[in-house]
Amino acid sequence: MNLEDFKYIDSHCHVEDKSLNKYREDIVKRAFEKKVQMVTSGTNLGSCRRAVELKEKYGIYVTLGYHPGRVNADDNAIEKVYNFIRSKEKEILAVGEIGLDFDAENIERQENIFKKFINLSKEVNKPVVIHARGMEERSYDILKNDVISMYHCYSGSLELAKELIKNGNFISYSTLVCFSEHHKNLVKNLGLENVVVETDSPYLSPIKGEKNEPKNVINVIETIWELKKDEYSMDEITKIIYNNTKRLYRI
Ligand SMILES: [Zn+2]
Repeated sequence: MNLEDFKYIDSHCHVEDKSLNKYREDIVKRAFEKKVQMVTSGTNLGSCRRAVELKEKYGIYVTLGYHPGRVNADDNAIEKVYNFIRSKEKEILAVGEIGLDFDAENIERQENIFKKFINLSKEVNKPVVIHARGMEERSYDILKNDVISMYHCYSGSLELAKELIKNGNFISYSTLVCFSEHHKNLVKNLGLENVVVETDSPYLSPIKGEKNEPKNVINVIETIWELKKDEYSMDEITKIIYNNTKRLYRI
């Protein structure tokens, strides 16, 4: 399928995740039937390798990174991911997900790894996809607008979101907007400029007990529309967000 065949792009998911091995074929098929394209994001060496294989198999998009939750891996393992990403420079839309997580150990080491991969993104001249759970401000202090960043599943303050967008960065609303008041408030108080949408599949399912999948990115758009229907039609929101995603990833 060509990009013109799609109406939506799930700007961040993990269809390469091992837990989806048995379901992946159907998940991708269901997404394509709903005109949803997706960007799957590698988080360690195995997941990065699978992500690239899926790009070749299904024609989906790929970003490659190293998840901050894996802070305790040895330097050698991190170096391997770094070298793999460099070798796949032409295959990727962005470096990520990379970042900081308040829940993981050793913030100092997390920061060093984060900086290493930010430098990689500068070398290959690509934007970064940021994981910044509970560390939104600190991540931004490190990034300093040096590279264009997309905050995946943005959960920080309204003020920081405005600052990020003003400086040309992007924030991504995940399926959390379907049930979280904090996220609904962000939607209500921000425009659609530099806003993209994602599922983070198989995580953050809008339906209890089910694995999340890229087709559910339509639920995110519908929730945004419910909160903004005085200003926009569903179609307008869909188009604006689609174009934002194309601009972010230069596709
Ligand atoms: Zn993710």
